[in-house]
Amino acid sequence: MTDAFPDLAPHYRDPHPYPHGVAWQDGQYIPVSEAKISVLDYGFLHSDATYDTVHVWDGAFFRLDAHMERFLGSVDRLRMTLPVSPDDIRTILHGCVALSGHRKAYVEMICTRGTASNFSRDPRDATNRFLAFAVPYGSVANDAQMQRGLDITITDTTRIPPGSVDPRIKNYHWLDLIAGLFHAYDRGGETALLLDANGNIAEGPGFNVFCVRNGTLLTPAEGVLPGITRRTVMDIGAEQGRTVQAMALSPDILRSAEEVFITSTAGGIMPVTRLDGNPVADGQVGPVTDSIRTTYWAWHKDARFIDPVAYRE
Ligand code: PLP
Repeated sequence: MTDAFPDLAPHYRDPHPYPHGVAWQDGQYIPVSEAKISVLDYGFLHSDATYDTVHVWDGAFFRLDAHMERFLGSVDRLRMTLPVSPDDIRTILHGCVALSGHRKAYVEMICTRGTASNFSRDPRDATNRFLAFAVPYGSVANDAQMQRGLDITITDTTRIPPGSVDPRIKNYHWLDLIAGLFHAYDRGGETALLLDANGNIAEGPGFNVFCVRNGTLLTPAEGVLPGITRRTVMDIGAEQGRTVQAMALSPDILRSAEEVFITSTAGGIMPVTRLDGNPVADGQVGPVTDSIRTTYWAWHKDARFIDPVAYRE
């Protein structure tokens, strides 16, 4: 920064690092490092955007229909208009993964409020934007945490209440979740669980939570994203003949549970063996968690739930 009034840069080059991947934007597939939204997009300025994340495992999408349905519902609730059809979205997502070559991928579809030529504050004036990308699969828990279980901190940060932001709309309002993460790190935890306005357990940064009590699977009923992995656990529970109940879950219920685990497209079923540094039951990964996790990954080979990607080679 030497010249007070420099010329505009003719060829801006982004110096930031990116993973390998492929994005789709404005009719074209491009390297993910080149996919951009405008600084004037209300998706960025106001967090006025929605998205969904689906994963590809061993070359096939898992529960793509369910993710698409949730995404289309989110877009509808935000009164956005997608510039592409649902069939186009399916094709675009397959295209991003096929071109990336990733057999295990993390795939996002995004709709932002977009921009308006007069920078209008009226969201109805904006032209909505659709983007998608595929990058290598990532997980909330690392390999060691998957084996021994996570140590989660129950933070005092309150999750944005459902009366403010409808949690059925998957969104980027993550400042409460990020604050929770830092509280957890400060207290020696590996990730965080946030409470709802009544002091009950809500969810964490990118995951839902379950516990096992007297053999019954319990999960928070309200104020959480209806996770597709959460739904899958409910389906597996039903198939295994277990009772699954969505209800208000106090921190004490969780602390006295036989087992605790968290669920996300980014990681699947992840055991939690410590809460606030104290062991859950005997501090080992429990048999119900283990059994549900095994079935969850077995379902990734089940034709009912998968959509194979047609790679080039
Ligand atoms: N809760 C929040 C806030 C999330 O962001 C996510 C996923 O990103 C989840 C829960 C888990 O949802 P899913 O199982 O559909 O990945």
